[in-house]
Amino acid sequence: HAKKNRLHLQIYHQQIDVNTLDRLQLVNDLKPAIEHDELVLFYQPKLNLKLNKVTHVEALVRWQHPVRGMIPPDSFIPIAEKMGQMNALTRWVIDQALSQYLQWKEQGIELSIAVNISAENLKDDQFCHYVLQAIKDKQVPIDALTLEITEDAVVADPEYAIKQLTELRQQGLTLSIDDYGTGYSSLAQLKQLPVQELKIDKSFVQNLMVNEDDQIIVSSTLQLAHNLGLKVVAEGIEDEGSLKWLTQRGCEMGQGFYLSRPIEAKALTTWLSQSAY
Ligand code: C2E
Ligand code: CA
Ligand code: CA
Ligand code: CA
Repeated sequence: HAKKNRLHLQIYHQQIDVNTLDRLQLVNDLKPAIEHDELVLFYQPKLNLKLNKVTHVEALVRWQHPVRGMIPPDSFIPIAEKMGQMNALTRWVIDQALSQYLQWKEQGIELSIAVNISAENLKDDQFCHYVLQAIKDKQVPIDALTLEITEDAVVADPEYAIKQLTELRQQGLTLSIDDYGTGYSSLAQLKQLPVQELKIDKSFVQNLMVNEDDQIIVSSTLQLAHNLGLKVVAEGIEDEGSLKWLTQRGCEMGQGFYLSRPIEAKALTTWLSQSAY
């Protein structure tokens, strides 16, 4: 019976991906969803491998749809990007993340929060101003926030993107290249971006212990990134072996299901109090 249900769910998901009418409907729903608090942020710990301590988390959005149930970001973010909804969404995410930062701080927990940025944000001439103003208004330190940026968010209009990112960097924000290795740019090209951190995509990390090619890719990326003065985060750590392997090779941070899946803020607080980190 469970198997049948799962099959049903998979088909349902595929329909979300292919049906254009369905997509449009979903995006029509997104704006009111933001207003009606149907979006929720989950948080996944980023473990500092040098200190063996969780110092950062990544905020990942989910949509608790009244009819469809919990919708994962891969099912609505790409549509929202195509339909010009990402400025509203990212603003909501930043506000929410900064409020959560303050809540944790009140509980004596200091966690810097990473937020995902998309192409539309970097094209928005108000984006920098919005981010910096939000930090000011909430009176949080500048290192409360990290911005994770994929290459394709930059390639749309590299000059303008670099201008915005440079301004944010000059104000002291931490910038991170996300999904490194999945795009077409070389690390040399990416180095022109004012970033301090590089996240090796999970596709190279998930099977690290059994795939020799992945080991070669990850260790040479680590070397090259370190030579360029970048800190490295490995995402998609699913076993203890990979965590140890990466720690031994000087990777600065690790993130993955082996440590914790993305969970709600409250659950993360509990997890922190019970884990060794
Ligand atoms: P991402 O930024 O690369 O985030 C990492 C994704 O990998 C998350 O999926 C996370 O749950 C998953 N992950 C983490 N550790 C592991 C692991 O050990 N194994 C495996 N198999 N997966 C792992 P999620 O939460 O479904 O998010 C998917 C993507 O949706 C994100 O990829 C990001 O591109 C996008 N996204 C999520 N939230 C936001 C947001 O607020 N704004 C924007 N612009 N994009 C977002
Ligand atoms: Ca990310
Ligand atoms: Ca990623
Ligand atoms: Ca991704």
